[in-house]
Amino acid sequence: MAQKLSRRSLLAGAGTVLGSTIVSLPGVASFERPANAKKPKNIIFCVSDGMSIGVPSMADQFMEMSHGQSGIWLEAARRQDVVKGRMDTRSLNSIVTDSAAAATAWGSGSLVMNGAICTLPGIELTPLYDVLGRAGMMRGLVTTATATHATPSGFASAVTSRSAQPEIAKQYRERGVEFVMGGGHENFSGAIRADKVDQYELYEKAGYKVAKTKAEMKATAGAKKFLGIFNTGQMPYTVDYNNNKEISDRVPTLSEMSTFAIEHLSKGAKGFVLQIEGGRIDHGAHANEFAALMFDQLEFEKAVKVALDFAEKDGETLVIVTTDHGNANPGITSNSDYGDDNGLMMLHGMKASYDAMDAQLKALKSAKDVQDLMLEKLSLKFTINQAEWVLNAYGKSSHMLELGNGNYASPTSMLAMAIGAHNGIGFTSDGHTSDWVEVLSFGPGSELFAGPIRNHTVFDKMLSLKDIKFSNPKMTLEEAKKAAEKLALVTEQDDVHWL
Ligand SMILES: [Zn+2]
Repeated sequence: MAQKLSRRSLLAGAGTVLGSTIVSLPGVASFERPANAKKPKNIIFCVSDGMSIGVPSMADQFMEMSHGQSGIWLEAARRQDVVKGRMDTRSLNSIVTDSAAAATAWGSGSLVMNGAICTLPGIELTPLYDVLGRAGMMRGLVTTATATHATPSGFASAVTSRSAQPEIAKQYRERGVEFVMGGGHENFSGAIRADKVDQYELYEKAGYKVAKTKAEMKATAGAKKFLGIFNTGQMPYTVDYNNNKEISDRVPTLSEMSTFAIEHLSKGAKGFVLQIEGGRIDHGAHANEFAALMFDQLEFEKAVKVALDFAEKDGETLVIVTTDHGNANPGITSNSDYGDDNGLMMLHGMKASYDAMDAQLKALKSAKDVQDLMLEKLSLKFTINQAEWVLNAYGKSSHMLELGNGNYASPTSMLAMAIGAHNGIGFTSDGHTSDWVEVLSFGPGSELFAGPIRNHTVFDKMLSLKDIKFSNPKMTLEEAKKAAEKLALVTEQDDVHWL
């Protein structure tokens, strides 16, 4: 395929095979809904981004020990009426996916190269939200990452690289996504965007109500279209929300955003689809940061409860809860002596994310500085050896690089090892993993998500539940590489550490 296909031409040719180089991958034929499967009116798709299975396990154990109740994920998993599945997470060019290719698998039914959003080399795919929007469904994206981050954008936009977030901000409006909520002010503000086009103004002209604070969101009633951008960059971590009044006064939590979105989207006559993403569990895992990822997971699970409670009352809503890939595989290790007095309870003393401590971490001058900071922010008494280890890590590059091992290369990983000496929490790396992941589903159509699932079949399954026949073009890896070569596209950006 030499020429780039426009969205219009793709829609006109929807479902057809575009050119001779495109063949179906084995096992990706369009999915037929079993005749007896119940059809949902609404679909809520909940993603804890980068959630290795140790994360909900520890969330459950923490809730049991600390509050005498189950974690929400594990409580849902124990229910007889919740269907359990396991999903692979690979992209077209790697068994270790990034979030863009992972979301594209769900959002287009096609495997793509890491870093791409609903595009194969030279071909723009039709995202799920375009297809469901044409069927009259209302569409929402809620995330704690930037609203235009890889996971939400894989459902509702098409760009060659996930880094094109200002373009994604424009596409959401052009494609008519009704509810967009998260961070990423820089991708909407005319004062910051490179093209100086103020997307807030254009959204308002297109009939969206716009909010930039929690108070503005709460004061919004009866919106049919809504843009809520609450922070520059990612939304703050929950641990910082919990310990900083300026943040908690200004931004809504994931569960608050989800409640707001469901209340409004559920007014539509033809149903709605809503993606709810805990986008920063992934970021906490990359940083090997226990407090950031655990508090964000607990908040994500609250949002899952909002979705499940709505679905239970409503009776016409399918809720799918999963992750796009594992990350860093955190877990409690035997370093905690297998006892009840393990490191989970140390979460209570952790009052700041690494982000919130960043300036202080970079200004460390002595082991005493490290000891003081760890005691103040994490309630941990570092030994002099531990303090010197951290001081060294922030002073020069990781010793791991000398081994040729890119894992644990950042100072935050070194800090995590010192914290691990206290709480017994270990990480296998600071990056994504190839693990299969858990899928929980509840409500009409949930039986389609039982047992082993290929990630790209989620798209076909969702469409089959709405009786829509549509499939996007697909390529094998070899075809994608050849097509990219012809177009002189860079498809494998080894120098980029995708999140
Ligand atoms: Zn990531």
